[in-house]
Parts: sequence; C-alpha cells; structure tokens
Amino acid sequence: MKVELMHGAGGEVMNELVSILTRISHCNAGGIGLEALDDGAVVPINGANVVFTTDSHVVRPIFFPGGDIGRIAIAGTVNDLAVMGARPIALSCGMVIEEGFEIADLERIVASMDEALGEAGAALVTGDTKVVERGSLDGIVINTAGIGVADRVVRDSTLIPGDRIIVTGTLGDHGLAILAHREGFNLGEQLRSDVAPVWPLVERALAAGEVHAMKDPTRGGFAAAINEMARKSGVGVVIDEISLPLRRSVVSAARLLGIDPLQVANEGKVVMGVPAADAEAVLAAIRSHPLGAEAAIVGTVIEGSRVVMATTAGGSRFIEPPMGDPVPRVC
Ligand code: MG
Repeated sequence: MKVELMHGAGGEVMNELVSILTRISHCNAGGIGLEALDDGAVVPINGANVVFTTDSHVVRPIFFPGGDIGRIAIAGTVNDLAVMGARPIALSCGMVIEEGFEIADLERIVASMDEALGEAGAALVTGDTKVVERGSLDGIVINTAGIGVADRVVRDSTLIPGDRIIVTGTLGDHGLAILAHREGFNLGEQLRSDVAPVWPLVERALAAGEVHAMKDPTRGGFAAAINEMARKSGVGVVIDEISLPLRRSVVSAARLLGIDPLQVANEGKVVMGVPAADAEAVLAAIRSHPLGAEAAIVGTVIEGSRVVMATTAGGSRFIEPPMGDPVPRVC
C-alpha cells in the first residue's frame, strides 16, 4: 500500500494515515497531547497553559487571489493556537526550497508573512532553510510551528447539548478560490481566499462570553469540522441551512464545479459552540471585528450522534464527514 494524494485531504481517508503516524507512545507532556488530535497540544509550564502546534504548507499555486503561501503559513499555525484559546506569541519557520526558485518570489512570501504576523500580534523568532535539487520538490514547502498561552484552554471535543453553533463568517471561500484560480475559471465576480489570522476575533469572542468548544474548519471544510466536534463530544448537531453564510459567488462556483462548499477549506474562520445564554453577546463581539462581519448562529447542539441539516426546502439531510477535501494541496 502506498500513500495517495487523498491521504492528505483532511477527511475520513486521512484518518488511516494519521492512525499510523500517531503510533507514538511518548505522546503527552502532562497536558493535552498527540492522542487528542486537537488543533494544538497543551504543555503546562510553571502553571501556564503553553499551547504548541505545527503545520506544513504545500498550497498550489503559491500565489492566489487573497493570499499566498507565506500568509497561509502564518495564519495556519496562528489559527490552530487561537482555536485552543491561546494568544499566539512566537513562531518558527522551516523552509525547503527547490533549486531555481525565484528570489523575488521569496521576498514576496517573506513580506506577506511579516504582514500576517503583524495582524496576529505574534513574532517569528527562529527558522531553518534547506535547498534541494531541481525537480525534487515543487517550488517551496514551508513549515511553521508556534507557541501561545491560553488563560483558559478551549477544546474541540467539549460541545454540550443546548450550545448554539456559531461560524465567524462565510464558508468555502478559500477552497473555491484556489480551485477556480487553478482551473482558470472566469466566474465574473472574483473569488478570494479568506486566509487571515483569527486571533484578534477569537480574543473578542472569549472576552464576551463562555465558549465551550472551537475548531478551525480547514481541510474538509465545515462538514469535516462540525462532524469531528460532534463525534469527539458525543453529541448531535442540527444546522439550519438558511442561516449558513455563503457568498453567492462561492455557491455558483461550487455548483459549476460540482463541489459542496461545506466540504472545502476555510483559512480564516472558526466554528464555535457557545452556551445559548452567551450566544448573542459572543456573536455581537465577533461581528464587531471586520473579519467577523458575516458571522452567524447556524445551529444547535442536541443529544445524539449525527449532524443533520434542516434544509431550505423544508426537509432534512445528514451533513456527512467528507472522505477528503475535494481540492488537493489547498494549504
Ligand atoms: Mg485546526
């Protein structure tokens, strides 16, 4: 058996690979470890919840509408810290570069990383660079790792029946923007990636009320994230289709390409479970930030084990965890 592209697509198929790669017995340093498969780990140090995470970035193409591999390399790691409830503090950056890569492109990527760090309020404090022979790599691979500190750690496995589900903005923008750009589709209105560091938004939400659970809906999109949260929490979720924020351009591109916009990656969004009593206050706090202007309450956590969508047509259907993100190399 060999590794296939689908093994990296963030869905059910990837779990086969993850089950091999997590055969590590030394996997917990006293807090939340590899076994939790959460967005980041928690390492308690001198009473502080130090959150630690890492992410490698192979997005194709490296420059796309709304962002580039540098912006995504910062946002990817910052967002995994943020959804654990952690203020991002310091990041590392490991770059593997193919011989022949344009220095001007490298300069653009680094400037973009710096801009995203400024938005996140974090610093890139250490790094490493390797160059490999022409043909042995597709341009550039960037790994970032990051540490942050959480006053209160937020898991992805702690939804409680009665919680309202909040999404912080429109869904599917990143995946559809990458795919449309890659395929050379001219869809009239430009599709743009939502890639952004979400910590400033999460910080406002956490200050406004209690947040029971959070996750960033990256590979596999909202469908993968909400199913993972429900499964780990041992609950069901009912989603109201009519309340899901989706750009018209995303909906029409998805229809054209035969793709479910709920199954493609977002790179600047958060899914939250918030107790009903706090939901309006948390929503208002999120909407007060430009990144969260289109945030919405989209559903409710119930007893049960499935994620069900009440459709605009008046019926209901399951939101299944996708086998994999239909768009490969999306981040
Ligand atoms: Mg994540």
